[in-house]
Amino acid sequence: DQVREQRVKYLTDEKRIKAVTVCFTDLEGRLHMLDYDKKFLLRSADNLTFDGSSVRGFSQQHESDLRLSIDWSAFYWLPSDVFGPGKVLVFAEVRGQDGLPYLADMRARLKDYAAAMYEKEGLVAQFAHEIEGFLFRGRDAERNYPERGAFEFISTGGYYHSLPGDALRRFIDSAAEVQRAMGFGNEKDHPEVAPSQFEMNFMHTEALIAADQVQLYKLLCRQVAQNYDMTACFLPKPVTGINGNGMHTNISLARKGTNLFHDKNGESGLSASGWSFTERILNSASDICLILNASVNAYRRLDPHFEAPNQIKASATDRGSMVRIPLGNERSARIEVRSVAPDANPYMTVYTLLRTGLEGPLPDPAEIANKRARTRFLPDNINDAIRLFKSSKFVADLLGEQVQTRFAEVKQASAERCPRALGSLIKTAEVQFH
Ligand code: GLN
Ligand code: MG
Ligand code: MG
Ligand code: MG
Repeated sequence: DQVREQRVKYLTDEKRIKAVTVCFTDLEGRLHMLDYDKKFLLRSADNLTFDGSSVRGFSQQHESDLRLSIDWSAFYWLPSDVFGPGKVLVFAEVRGQDGLPYLADMRARLKDYAAAMYEKEGLVAQFAHEIEGFLFRGRDAERNYPERGAFEFISTGGYYHSLPGDALRRFIDSAAEVQRAMGFGNEKDHPEVAPSQFEMNFMHTEALIAADQVQLYKLLCRQVAQNYDMTACFLPKPVTGINGNGMHTNISLARKGTNLFHDKNGESGLSASGWSFTERILNSASDICLILNASVNAYRRLDPHFEAPNQIKASATDRGSMVRIPLGNERSARIEVRSVAPDANPYMTVYTLLRTGLEGPLPDPAEIANKRARTRFLPDNINDAIRLFKSSKFVADLLGEQVQTRFAEVKQASAERCPRALGSLIKTAEVQFH
């Protein structure tokens, strides 16, 4: 197709480019990157294979080799001052040996689902993630955690009042520059509430691009930090007793450019379709919690004393509610799902929130009123979340039984590596896992 032709021509003509970083994401959300020599890639783009048995949550030994199919529309230039000279990055889809889509590749599944939504109903989903992180002193602060037993801050923190030349501010500025160069629609960035914590916001965009941007954001922040001999850390709760890291997920739906979530007469300015989307998510919130909070550590974060929600509820004001309805107009009306952690698989979370909001079971109005009257909480530890996830009929429909089982297995293994996360210190195993 046309996009492919353009990119291939660009790669062929641009003599400075030597290698192409081809990447995909495993079931748990880790980004995997393979650097292909440009000439080799151009010759063999339709026949790329890799060993899937070494990727957790992917193939079993007997089916080890998998295929990669390049998604030429997701093509990024990597700024050379940060990533070294002559590189571009492109996302790929994982396929089985038979060439069919691989079910554990959530990126491909999100892409297909978003395309079908558009073809069948003319619906376009818009997502914007607000991703928080910590900047710690030293390279490999996560790997060195077992010896040190602590992370070292580089600033004392506080919202908005750091000096422009502070180390944290310099890091944020550099990361923002990389984002601009890579085509993110930067909106704002700032030091966050906790010491050494930052947040960057970019413009809402189509579901698949937004999920790709989560992966790129974490990658570029990590690389910029490492170049400064520091570590960008996206553990949900790296330090106890202070705020953790959220990945608030803003969602709206549009048809022909009209935001379907806006209704100035609706409750909190949200339309009936916005409310049904929200109620469907709340109704399945416990079943899908493991997807949005997929690590032992994530359950330490869900504490309203630290602005992280644990209530299954929507509210315009209360930040202890998992869904907030921000003040919006016909363009910006949206819902903000606050119970998502930054170490979750972004393709899986976007796919899940979208499909649950559109197709999840909707209780009848009396039951909704009844549920609203009681306070309901999200699971407060990964073992409960695994149990709810495993026994959910809805999750089986959403992911397919095979992926449901595999995901539960890898999460069970991580829970067992970190027996009962009691006590006030973050356990080494929680950090290593990440
Ligand atoms: N850090 C909080 C969280 O974990 C959010 C704080 C904020 O953005 N106001 O979600
Ligand atoms: Mg924010
Ligand atoms: Mg924030
Ligand atoms: Mg927010």
